[in-house]
Amino acid sequence: MGVIIVAAGRGQRMGTDVPKQLLDLGGRSMLRRSVEAFDRHPDIAEIVVVLPAELVKDGASLVGPTTRSCTVTAGGDRRQDSVRAGFLGLSDEVSLLLVHDAARPFADAALIDRVIAAARESGAAVPALQARDTVKRVAANQSTVAETIPRQDIWLAQTPQGFRRDVFTAVIALAGTAELTDEAMLAERAGYPVRIVHGDERNVKITTLEDLSVARARCSGPPRVGSGYDLHRLVEGRPLVLAGVTIPFDRGPLGHSDGDVACHALTDALLGAAGAGDIGQQFPDTDPAWKDAPGLDLLGRTMAVIRARGLAVSNADITVILERPRLAPHAMLIRERLAHVLGISIDAVSIKGKTNEGVDAVGRGEAIAAHATVVLIGGEPR
Ligand code: MG
Repeated sequence: MGVIIVAAGRGQRMGTDVPKQLLDLGGRSMLRRSVEAFDRHPDIAEIVVVLPAELVKDGASLVGPTTRSCTVTAGGDRRQDSVRAGFLGLSDEVSLLLVHDAARPFADAALIDRVIAAARESGAAVPALQARDTVKRVAANQSTVAETIPRQDIWLAQTPQGFRRDVFTAVIALAGTAELTDEAMLAERAGYPVRIVHGDERNVKITTLEDLSVARARCSGPPRVGSGYDLHRLVEGRPLVLAGVTIPFDRGPLGHSDGDVACHALTDALLGAAGAGDIGQQFPDTDPAWKDAPGLDLLGRTMAVIRARGLAVSNADITVILERPRLAPHAMLIRERLAHVLGISIDAVSIKGKTNEGVDAVGRGEAIAAHATVVLIGGEPR
């Protein structure tokens, strides 16, 4: 059995600068997710992906690794041209085939099973959902209702659609000049019975930015919170550095590194949220590579760890506890530096200065401390 995955659209209706089938959904493109759904299915032996001609040379990397035979071919301007190109890419051994839109990345095995079973029996099958809203046919002026159509008669077609090879050959032969929106339409026209099987509510077609954001939320796990803390003694003759910003003062943190408590606390918060250990494990100060590393550098390296796990920062909040000097005049610059490294906007980074009211070592000005909280988003659903 073979599947043609139609991804030939150049549609930039969503206002993005890449075709929508290449947009990311929780770490993998819509196209990859669509291909994976069939590559995992036990009945599928061949996959043909139809891409816009200019993307075919990058096809293998866009599609990603597959376990089944997978070829990439160039589509045409009209849907029927793309589907015909896909059909020519399937081997003669394929006696039953599916046609699927790459813009439906959530087709599951049960849905694919239903379509295959019905197509095998009837020659052609379409998954569809019964209309739930009242359906109006609108007059040619596009502004008044011509009639109300009984909604029990209205079913909304999805993909994958399934066809026996002989039926599909007739479909392709008919696909002349008509503007085609699905292949079942032609099977009907050729006089073949087209079986309706139950579609799947989750098998949505991603068309608008709203669809995209709902789909992205579905593809990522719940937010992950992390907290971090750091403290350094303050001594004379050392620069006071916070988020790489040197603040004029007569004392600074003691330590091998710059003693940047904001970066150190934030690094621990990020690692904690990601479940990736702590700053001491990632950057042991016994290793000469990290002994004198600036805090902002460690933070940048930590972000590489976070990104490698498919995670991104949503926001960060830091409290620095310091008796003197006042942080407020430097807060904007600190936020800018941190936002840049974390890959978020300035309004997603907060830094607050606090004194310790003269109490204990921090209050006596002998130490500086910081608490940080971050929220990470993305990653796989749990
Ligand atoms: Mg530290």
